[in-house]
Amino acid sequence: MAEKGSLVVISGFSGAGKGTVVKELEKLGGNYWTSVSMTTRRPRPGEEEGLSYYFVTREEFEKTIEENGFLEYAAFVDNYYGTPRKYVEEKLAEGRDVILEIESNGGSQVKTFFPEAILIFITAPSAGELAQRLRGRGTEAASVVEGRLRKAREESFIIDQYDYLLVNENGKARECAEQIHEIIRKDRYAPRRQQAFIRKLQDGFAELIERHLQENGP
Ligand code: 5GP
Repeated sequence: MAEKGSLVVISGFSGAGKGTVVKELEKLGGNYWTSVSMTTRRPRPGEEEGLSYYFVTREEFEKTIEENGFLEYAAFVDNYYGTPRKYVEEKLAEGRDVILEIESNGGSQVKTFFPEAILIFITAPSAGELAQRLRGRGTEAASVVEGRLRKAREESFIIDQYDYLLVNENGKARECAEQIHEIIRKDRYAPRRQQAFIRKLQDGFAELIERHLQENGP
């Protein structure tokens, strides 16, 4: 079986419902730990420090970059967002499956440094549906909605770099989370996730051949 936890990147257009899907995933009883990112964006109503994000100044963010404190980071619509490195590495070593809910530039960085990561992209059923969800949120100015649609178009060209593309249908976040749960479960059986076990098999064969030669001659 897999040795360390899985590193799972969940990206998707703003308004695709990633946050809800991740909450549903946590309820499915896996061994999940969701990373809390650092951002320079202001908190939205209802968001809490240390739960939604660590809200920091640009200076604090840049200091963390200099200290190599991020696993990945990216600028997204005028703000910085980054994954603090330390906790992610600790939780993976403990065998937890770590969920990163991040945008696609960050996803590409993770794939470069952690080729074994599972990259999942979530979308709404259509561009029109996505726009409607963004406007319906009502917490953003029209210019912000437009910025997010432009960003969504850009991100649509990066989807190919992902391992999986899932549609989060209206009101079906639970189903989407179940699909992710299944993907993570199956990934445990991938050989690249079982390197120590494969080495043990190889050493075992070498040892048996050696013994066979000693007992029976060449
Ligand atoms: P929001 O402002 O809506 O909370 O997030 C904007 C975008 O930033 C979302 O696509 C979200 O997934 C992404 N994001 C959140 N945290 C991180 C992070 O640590 N790194 C990167 N690269 N993107 C992030």
